[in-house]
Amino acid sequence: MNSIELRRELHRHPELSFEEHRTQRTIMAALEAEGIACREIAGTGVLARIKGARGNHRRAVVLRADIDALPIVERNEVDYRSENEGVMHACGHDMHAAMLFGVLTELNRERDFEGTLFGVFQPGEELNPGGASKVLAEEPFADYDVAAVVGQHVDARLEVGQIGICPGMFMASNDELRFAVRGRGGHAARRAECDDTVTAMADLVVRTTSLNVPDAVVSVGRVIAEGATNVIPDRVTAEGTMRTFDTAERERIYAHLRGNAKTIEEKYGVEVEVDISRGYPSVVNDVMLSYEAMIVAADEGIAIRELERMTTAEDFGYYTERYASLFYRLGVGRAAGSSHTATFLPDEAAIAVGERMMRRMALHVLNK
Ligand SMILES: [Zn+2]
Ligand SMILES: [Zn+2]
Repeated sequence: MNSIELRRELHRHPELSFEEHRTQRTIMAALEAEGIACREIAGTGVLARIKGARGNHRRAVVLRADIDALPIVERNEVDYRSENEGVMHACGHDMHAAMLFGVLTELNRERDFEGTLFGVFQPGEELNPGGASKVLAEEPFADYDVAAVVGQHVDARLEVGQIGICPGMFMASNDELRFAVRGRGGHAARRAECDDTVTAMADLVVRTTSLNVPDAVVSVGRVIAEGATNVIPDRVTAEGTMRTFDTAERERIYAHLRGNAKTIEEKYGVEVEVDISRGYPSVVNDVMLSYEAMIVAADEGIAIRELERMTTAEDFGYYTERYASLFYRLGVGRAAGSSHTATFLPDEAAIAVGERMMRRMALHVLNK
């Protein structure tokens, strides 16, 4: 099976996050047919391993592809369209898996490198807590010195033949915020007998949004106080989102959110609850790896676009938190349309480009 055949096979049989059973079997069968050692990881993922012929196997490079699909009814008219009605590879993860397979196949045949090459076919990128956290929780690289983790994502803003790189902070962390203020509600005309839960929440919201700085977004999008013109409610709730590009910044804002809650409790005599549902950490590219990738790409005749930061999130952030990592974008052409829609269709010509880039990057790090 070649990578385009694998891509179409996966596209035809997409599966939702953490339900990638058939996908897992398909990938393992394809790897085994090539004589590549592999095993299950993170439930429905696959971990492949290739030892280089030049020894020094403790040193490792990890190549990562996500494999899950989305709950979307496909509207593309291709002969490999989804046969799993209501589920579609609308984020290009079928492309990612196919390219990783292609790279592993080629490097397994050559084996002309030092160290160990891992390929992670990772489940559940699209759903909290993210398959990356499950992969790492199993500590699969505990006996190795991981020199780099490399991942790529299709991007319709770039043409085929281009890749996009953003050195340093690249994609945002994504946390959900939930607030509740509780107190003695009561008759709005007899303020001395009740706690002003509404004003307390209003004050909390203003303090929350004042935490915005250039490297962080904190927004409140929902506030509910179900009292009346003359009723102060016992409970007021609010919800929001928080995005940061940097772990220290994220922790700093968490501390402020908790500190604000204490201040409001003392000032208004109410109880304040802050619930932070942690999403993915920010994707921070290793700066050295980023510039090395630009050199490698130029050498391969691949055009480079330096990208701006993105406020979307990716569970690849879990790898960048632990290891020197690089996550770059692969051009699949504007005609591909928008990802996460029923007509997203990346150009398969990008597969060869993504394979060349990933293969060269792996060899560059392993043999340096
Ligand atoms: Zn997606
Ligand atoms: Zn994606």
